[in-house]
Amino acid sequence: MKSNYDVIIIGAGPAGIFTAIEMLKCGSQKKILIIEKGSAIENRRCPKHITGKCMNCKPYCHITTGFSGAGAFSDGKLSLSPEVGGDLPDLIGENLAAETIAYTDKIYLEFGADTKIEGIGNDDAVKRIRKRAIQAGLKLVDCPIRHLGTEKAQEIYYAIEQHLLKNGVDMMFGTECEDIILEDGKCLGVRLNTKEGKVEIKAPHTVVATGRRGADWLEKICYEHKIAHQPGTVDIGVRVEVRNEIMETVNNVLYESKLIGYPAPFKNKVRTFCQNPGGFVSQENYDNDLAVVNGHSYKELKSQNTNLAILCSHNFSEPFNQPIAYAQKVGELTNMLGDGKILVQRFGDILDGKRTWEKELSRSNIKPTLPDAVAGDITAAMPYRAMINIINFIQAVDHVVPGFASTETLLYSPELKFYSNKVKLDNDFNTNVEGLHCLGDSSGWTRGLMMASVMGVLMGRKLK
Ligand SMILES: Cc1cc2nc3c(=O)[nH]c(=O)nc-3n(C[C@H](O)[C@H](O)[C@H](O)COP(=O)(O)OP(=O)(O)OC[C@H]3O[C@@H](n4cnc5c(N)ncnc54)[C@H](O)[C@@H]3O)c2cc1C
Repeated sequence: MKSNYDVIIIGAGPAGIFTAIEMLKCGSQKKILIIEKGSAIENRRCPKHITGKCMNCKPYCHITTGFSGAGAFSDGKLSLSPEVGGDLPDLIGENLAAETIAYTDKIYLEFGADTKIEGIGNDDAVKRIRKRAIQAGLKLVDCPIRHLGTEKAQEIYYAIEQHLLKNGVDMMFGTECEDIILEDGKCLGVRLNTKEGKVEIKAPHTVVATGRRGADWLEKICYEHKIAHQPGTVDIGVRVEVRNEIMETVNNVLYESKLIGYPAPFKNKVRTFCQNPGGFVSQENYDNDLAVVNGHSYKELKSQNTNLAILCSHNFSEPFNQPIAYAQKVGELTNMLGDGKILVQRFGDILDGKRTWEKELSRSNIKPTLPDAVAGDITAAMPYRAMINIINFIQAVDHVVPGFASTETLLYSPELKFYSNKVKLDNDFNTNVEGLHCLGDSSGWTRGLMMASVMGVLMGRKLK
C-alpha cells in the first residue's frame, strides 16, 4: 500500500463507494484509497442463518460492517423521493437532490438493479389510503421505491466492488481508521490500525463516511479536533410486526407506507420507517454489545408477516445535549430486561399493563420472525413520552390499516437510529477543517441507501 494518495475515503458504505464511482465516471486520474474496518463483500457472512441466533460476532458485526456498509444485508429499498432519507435536501436544495437521485438510480440499474419501481400507479387506491390517513390526522408521503432485495443487493455491491478494483481504486479491508492527522488546522490524512500495526497515510482530501456504526467514533473525533458540529436527532422506537393479511392493501398499493403524525399530548414527530412486506425482523449488535432490532426482506424468500419501524425523534439542548448517549441508555436498559436479547411484547399486553409471556405468543395468528427475541415488558425500559407517542400513533395507523392495533400485534425493542452529531458542512461538503469532508449517515445529513449514495456522487464530482 502506498503512503500517499489524492483522496482517502474512510468507510466503504454507499456514501464512500459512490464517491469513488463518480470520480471514475468523471474520468478522474486521482489515486483513491478506501479504508474499511470490515471485509470485502464476498467475505461477509452472518452466521445466524446456520446457528439460528445472533452470535454477537467480534471484532465486528458482518451485517453492518464491510464493503457496502449497512447496505449489503439491508433490504435494499432505494427511496426515490427527496422527502425520504434525511436532511440532505436542506443543504443542497430539493431540485439538486431530486436530479441526483434520478442519476444515482441509473447507476444502480447499470449494476443490475431490478427495473420495477414499487409504489407508482394505483392512483385511486392511493387516494383511498390517503383519505383514511387524513381522517386519522396522519400525512402520507409519496415515495416510489426500487427494491433490490437483500440477496440481490449483495450481487450489485459485489459488481461495484469489482468495478472499483479493476479501475485502480485501492482498498484496505480489516483496517480501522483510528484518527485523522491534523496540522495547522489542515487534515493531512489518517492514522490506521492495521493487522501489521499502526500506519499513517497522507492525502490532501480525507472523506469520512463511517455510517451509523461510526457515529460514536466521529463524535469523539469532532470533540478532539474541534470539527464544528451540532447535536442532532436520535430516533427511539419499536419494530412492529403484523400478519401480511393486515397490511395487504398498503403492501400491494404502496409497498411501503410512509406515514407521519404528531400525536397528542406531546405532538412530537412520529413516523413509520423501513416497511418490509413478507419480511423478517433482525437483530444488529453494536460494538459496545448493544443489541438493537431492525428488519429486512428478501426478493424471493417471504414470511407470513410484515414489519416496520415506528420512530419518535428526540432532540436535546440544555443542560444535556448528548442524544446518542441517551438512546444508548434506553437500549442498554431494554437489553438488560431481555438478558442481552431483543424484547418482544404484544400490543394488547401493553394496553393491559402487563408483560407478555413466551407461552402467550403461541396463542396468536402471528409467529415472530425473530425467534430469539424474548417475551417481556418493553414499557419497563421505554421512556414514558416515547411509549405514549408510539401507542397513540399505532392507534391512529389503525384507521388507515384496520387491525394494526390488534392485541396480537408484536412490538420489538429497542429500535434505535443514531443520526446525531450533524457535522457542519458547506455546499461542497467541506468541514471547518481544510481537506476534511464528511458524508452519509455518519455526517448526520442522510438516513438511507439512496441519500447516502447521492451524497457520495456529489462528493465525487467535487473531488474528481
Ligand atoms: C439491517 C438494515 C437494513 C436497512 N435497510 C435499508 C433499506 O432498505 N433502505 C435504505 O434506504 N436504508 C436501509 N438501511 C440503512 C442504510 O443501510 C444506511 O442508511 C446506509 O448504508 C448508509 O450509508 P453510509 O455509507 O453512510 O454508511 P454505512 O453503510 O454504515 O457504511 C459505513 C462503513 O464504514 C465502516 N467504518 C465505520 N467506522 C470505521 C472506521 N473507523 N474505520 C474504517 N471503516 C469504518 C463500516 O464498517 C461501514 O462499512 C438499513 C440498515 C440496516 C442496518
